[in-house]
Amino acid sequence: MSLASRLYRLQTTEFDLKHKRRLLQDTVARLLHNAELSAAEDELSAIESRLAAARKQQRQLEWEVDDLNAKIKGLKDKLYGGTVRNPKELVSLDQDVQSVKRYLGGKEEKLLEAMDTTELIEAEAGTVRRRVADLKAAWEQEKEQLQTLKDATEGEVAHLTEMRLSIRNELDASASQRYDQIAKAKGIAVAKVEQGRCKGCNLTVPAGLWQRARAGEIVECGSCGRFLYVD
Ligand SMILES: [Zn+2]
Repeated sequence: MSLASRLYRLQTTEFDLKHKRRLLQDTVARLLHNAELSAAEDELSAIESRLAAARKQQRQLEWEVDDLNAKIKGLKDKLYGGTVRNPKELVSLDQDVQSVKRYLGGKEEKLLEAMDTTELIEAEAGTVRRRVADLKAAWEQEKEQLQTLKDATEGEVAHLTEMRLSIRNELDASASQRYDQIAKAKGIAVAKVEQGRCKGCNLTVPAGLWQRARAGEIVECGSCGRFLYVD
């Protein structure tokens, strides 16, 4: 294998390796964190807090309504029980009953509102709970696929790393260094020559240079300085 084709193979291997490493990194990151599921879980936990507060508020009002009903019953028992005979006292008792009843009316209205609120939040929580359950089920499947992808990509990275090392070991130090220099400056160190043009800069390669490159000799493009490779 000519030096030019070994350099070209090195470049292809390094690109593949870079790509596979990035894929591995992304896969590991995705395995660690499911943004959509976390967001839905956060949303659910916020709704659960709101629901707990609404239920507490509702219970509080139910107790108050019960207390007021008991109070009214006590007052009525006194009013109609026959133990109180003083007309003034009876009038005052009746006024108390009316006053507590008015107060009770307001509380009952608030209780109805609180019940409506609880019901609305319960419905909302139900929707989000189902969504979280669906996302979790989907996530279990996705995790399996991601794990398979991760294992396969780790294998590929190991293989490409070995390949890269063995190509590097076959190269002499000066070619390896020059390759790194060009790669660092230009991103791509080895450019293919296609239809007489350097694919790195798209300029025509003089026939003499092109023929030397085709013979496997290591030559650099006169305009962009990349190694030329003829397939
Ligand atoms: Zn060029």
